[in-house]
Amino acid sequence: MAKTYSIAIDGPAGAGKSTIAKRLAKELGYKYVDTGAIYRTVAYFLDLLGVSPKDVDGVERYIDELTVVIEYDDDGVQHMIMNGMDVSGEIRTQDISQKASLVSAHAVVREVLLDMQRDVAKSYNVIMDGRDIGTVVLPNADVKIFLTASAEVRAKRRTDELLAKGQTADYETVLKEIVQRDYQDTHRPIAPLKMAKESVKVDTSDMDIEQVVQTIREIVGKKIPL
Ligand code: C5P
Repeated sequence: MAKTYSIAIDGPAGAGKSTIAKRLAKELGYKYVDTGAIYRTVAYFLDLLGVSPKDVDGVERYIDELTVVIEYDDDGVQHMIMNGMDVSGEIRTQDISQKASLVSAHAVVREVLLDMQRDVAKSYNVIMDGRDIGTVVLPNADVKIFLTASAEVRAKRRTDELLAKGQTADYETVLKEIVQRDYQDTHRPIAPLKMAKESVKVDTSDMDIEQVVQTIREIVGKKIPL
């Protein structure tokens, strides 16, 4: 099998991972894999069934009834298919963000999703973003980046993003949720959000998108033939 390249971008919510990863994937002709969307789909599925994301027995009982498939449309946009239904829009709410964070702490959930994520990277050149890509999912990734920003800047970006989509969003509430999600994601026992040893840390607090893309491109260019 021909060598495939993989770029791992990890970091907390709202650091700009998906915006940057999408841009670079398009430029490089790589597949962009948003792994957060997979956890969101699990959270949405359990939510529809009325299973609390904290209910260990409920999560274990129902997870086998879920089939998650990642599909890409002609523009390379990732779609999440939950038991045959496209739920890409439904999973993008603040409520599901919180529930995804709780659901993702369960061992059984992370186990089920691990191979699925690794399989994509076996067949394609990928830019994968998430929380544990460089540490757990793709420990041999060619490039590892840890993208971060202050909680305040991330909350402002997330609020603007939600408002632009026509959802209601209040900065203080979004900030509180981001701080809570950071805590949950960094303190869970399995695959917590942390910087991989080989990661290059990029703090985007004072950068605009173009500056971030340029910075990441330079980091990538040193490791992968562009
Ligand atoms: O990136 P996004 O905000 O969509 O992720 C939603 C949640 O899914 C995160 O808060 C995190 O708890 C979980 N997640 C994870 N591991 C990943 C990606 C996301 O645990 N690789």
